[in-house]
Amino acid sequence: MISGGKDDKAPTPDELQKELAEFFKKKFGDKAFISIFPQQDREGGGEADEESDEKLPELKFDLKPKDVKGYLDRYVIKQEEAKKVLSIAVCDHYNHAVHCHGKGGCGDYSKQNVILIGPTGVGKTYLIKCIARLIGVPFVKADATKFSETGYVGGDVEDLVRDLVHEADGNVALAQYGIIYIDEIDKIASARELVGRDVSGRGVQTGLLKLMEETEVLLRSPSDITGQIQTMMEFQKKGKVKRKTINTRHILFIVSGAFDQIAEIVQKRIRRSEVGFGAGIDARKKRFEYLHEAGTKDFIQFGFEPEFIGRLPVRVVCEELNEDDLYQILKSSEGSIIAQYEAAFAAFGIKVFFSDEGLRAIAKKSHQEETGARGLMTVCERTLRDYKFELPSTEITHLVVTGEIVADPQAELGKILSTPQLAERAFGAELVREFEKEFQRDHGISISFNKAAAEFVVARSEEAKAEVATYCRTQFKDYEHGLNLIKRNTGRDSFTITKEAVQNPSDTLNKWIKKSYQK
Ligand code: ADP
Repeated sequence: MISGGKDDKAPTPDELQKELAEFFKKKFGDKAFISIFPQQDREGGGEADEESDEKLPELKFDLKPKDVKGYLDRYVIKQEEAKKVLSIAVCDHYNHAVHCHGKGGCGDYSKQNVILIGPTGVGKTYLIKCIARLIGVPFVKADATKFSETGYVGGDVEDLVRDLVHEADGNVALAQYGIIYIDEIDKIASARELVGRDVSGRGVQTGLLKLMEETEVLLRSPSDITGQIQTMMEFQKKGKVKRKTINTRHILFIVSGAFDQIAEIVQKRIRRSEVGFGAGIDARKKRFEYLHEAGTKDFIQFGFEPEFIGRLPVRVVCEELNEDDLYQILKSSEGSIIAQYEAAFAAFGIKVFFSDEGLRAIAKKSHQEETGARGLMTVCERTLRDYKFELPSTEITHLVVTGEIVADPQAELGKILSTPQLAERAFGAELVREFEKEFQRDHGISISFNKAAAEFVVARSEEAKAEVATYCRTQFKDYEHGLNLIKRNTGRDSFTITKEAVQNPSDTLNKWIKKSYQK
């Protein structure tokens, strides 16, 4: 092991390099190490890559802001403004990148780096992840706090860029168009109002600023011993070393944070300028609205360096999610965790179905967690953990996650385990109820299967190896027309489907219609 010197503190990258260089020099002689270490290489103004193994990626970008927004709509619920603003920023950014492609410099352009403001778990990261996936560029995320904790300030922010290469499977050219997302950026604001400013926060800002502007980052970190040894071996083999760098010109930076105190700063500023207009205005304004009005000066007062905030021209506020939003995320986001649970149970041959009441109950409980959509995961896990453990070892093959299960998972599991048929029956009944809702939605007429009819339908569709809904749709295909006729004759708009109707759908319907004329 290489010692750090006098005390036990970790060596700085520079110290480490020096020690390594000396170690290798002792072992292998003098000449091998003259220009191996990139830092020294850089000082010597090393040459550019001699042999570049990657060609520039075929850069095509033909999306319009509405295409991007449309894609985001499939996954991200609410956050309309954020989706819109990000769609525009991303199109501008990549159109510019394509425009510059292959050219040396590309004139004056101020990059559309973004600052995302909003509480935890409302989809900030998710938005950016979806964008990166849509465009096909690598994406990395880190917490800004990670940088202030370590001594390796500069080195660490540069690791973000190297991580992009890793995410791009080593394709440096592609990594240069990646997206870097840094969360908790509000934690590296230096408290200006305190004596003795928080220097580490400023240091990180400076490091990030350099990346956001434009810089060349070494592919192999000076503090990465393995990387350095690889460099050394390469040198021994070829007698020269490729000094690879990554340019950050076209990397899109997104930073985010909750920025709790910035609402107060804005509030104070506005209140000052609104003297005489009555205090009621402030009281009525919500935090969210103040965040919307946060300007450059507010961010500077908050503790950002003017140059730093100046490099983040696109500012977006994300909204908090209410109970209904959480329900919508479960129900209609293409990335809903419900699919994950269905797959997890399906792997054991168990078909799981979340009833509407069940989803509502999960949303309600999650909302109480106050962690945005993250609460959904917590609640689902807490609710279904024991089901995942117990059910695969039983004969149960169907499960409906009902409101009751979400309210008291243990008690309901006990019931199901003691009477497994309960679960099967409940599942069928739930599917029938789904068909009832579909019928109401599509045809404006309410039907409801009585118990015997529901059980019969489930049994029949199982025999026919058809989904309950599919079976019902064919069986009752004439019912829309027929029931509407009855509705016109009698004014009635809700009907009970009996077992007889399931056995003989057409005959029963005809009988009902005939009767409606008699009345
Ligand atoms: P943060 O705002 O803290 O970055 P995330 O984007 O990481 O929150 O949210 C955590 C997870 O919650 C996401 O991966 C996603 O599954 C879900 N989620 C959060 N917000 C939304 C939303 N608005 N629409 C759909 N899913 C969301």
